[in-house]
Amino acid sequence: MHPLDRLTRQMALVSWRAFLPLVPSYASARNRVQAGHDNVSRLGASIRFRTLLEDEIIAETLAEHSFQIAEKWLQEICWRRYWKGWLEINPQVWTQWRQRVRSLPQQLPAETLARARAVMCGESGVACMDVIARELIETGYLHNHARMWWASFWVHVEKLPWELGADFFFRHLIDADPASNTLSWRWVAGLQTRGKSYLVKLSNIEKYAPNYLTGNTAGSERLADGAVVASIVEEAGDVAKKVPMQYPTALGPTSNRTGLWIHPDDLTPEIGPLALLAPVSVAACLSGYVYSQTYQLSSQRAASLHAVLGDGLERAAAHYACPALALETDDPVAGLCSWVRENELAEVVAFAPMIGPIHDMLPRLSASFAAMGTRLTLIRRVSDATAFSFATAGFFPFWVKMSRHFK
Ligand SMILES: Cc1cc2nc3c(=O)[nH]c(=O)nc-3n(C[C@H](O)[C@H](O)[C@H](O)COP(=O)(O)OP(=O)(O)OC[C@H]3O[C@@H](n4cnc5c(N)ncnc54)[C@H](O)[C@@H]3O)c2cc1C
Repeated sequence: MHPLDRLTRQMALVSWRAFLPLVPSYASARNRVQAGHDNVSRLGASIRFRTLLEDEIIAETLAEHSFQIAEKWLQEICWRRYWKGWLEINPQVWTQWRQRVRSLPQQLPAETLARARAVMCGESGVACMDVIARELIETGYLHNHARMWWASFWVHVEKLPWELGADFFFRHLIDADPASNTLSWRWVAGLQTRGKSYLVKLSNIEKYAPNYLTGNTAGSERLADGAVVASIVEEAGDVAKKVPMQYPTALGPTSNRTGLWIHPDDLTPEIGPLALLAPVSVAACLSGYVYSQTYQLSSQRAASLHAVLGDGLERAAAHYACPALALETDDPVAGLCSWVRENELAEVVAFAPMIGPIHDMLPRLSASFAAMGTRLTLIRRVSDATAFSFATAGFFPFWVKMSRHFK
């Protein structure tokens, strides 16, 4: 099935329920990279856009399997929330990454940029890495191991800046997530766990992708065990922790002219704290301009955003029995302000965006709404607020606290 076809909530649920019986073998099967990737769930995009909720996956997993049998699977499901929570406390890691993505092309020598482009196009000369680059461009999906190997190849073999490799993933991965992507790249580069880099090894590729990536051995000597030496990667600036924003987890009384704004950080408002809202209108912004100019997303990635937002709007229209509009706009803030004016909204309710592109809009959006006298109410799911409060250190202390809720 093409990744875009799996994106509606209905198809995500079908895919998830087909995968549920395979959870017991996930721990032993997940590391293999093989054609079709049916040893892993390929639910990343549905989870990232929340057309499928981690809470549902966790509850259904535990209804079907014991914690012991499902532990590895549950851990992986929780990694994403761990990264999300970590980035809430360290938001400037996101901001600095975006700044470097904009500034590096002006600062790097032309030959470095030309090499970066060749590696991204799958023309590095290391055949197995070129297969991965082309798979990403063609399908918008990569297995976790392939992401690790390719990111390591980029940073520690090609010695290219991690920020531009992370941007290549962000532009093409359909499940591209500001936290999982940026922080996984930082982990590979040795920035996330200080002094600990992830080094790609040919023997590891041969073990886990024997037929998939090892048919053509061209250039593979560059990945030979012991040949890859860690690049010393420095922080680009200050990354001191901040006190994360706290959001309410339940709705108080709302205005009788309330609108619901849905966005790609959570597209299932009909389940959870917004389920009982009575909006007069629902809206989501689609911005070809932002996708292509600000983020230079691949056409497939832009199409995936259209697909999930369309699906979210359709479900919202049915659930709330009110009009649900796709605001096609070059400027999402201006688009939302027009929607507020046209519908005479006194209040707009939304899930609190997490650190990333939607969150970056908030200062301007809040100021514009305030100028119009419209209240912006941002709500966080209880389970996110709980998980994020545990993400203050490494994953394993986080997991100890998280997993107490599952036993
Ligand atoms: C360099 C690099 C970049 C990455 N970029 C992203 C990204 O942009 N978006 C993204 O969702 N994941 C990212 N990951 C994490 C992981 O590779 C993907 O979540 C996973 O491969 C998605 O495929 P799947 O759904 O088939 O995974 P499965 O193995 O079936 O896992 C199920 C779910 O668990 C979560 N998960 C699994 N592994 C991880 C992990 N290591 N970190 C965080 N969550 C995980 C995901 O939500 C995933 O869908 C990245 C990893 C690396 C090394």
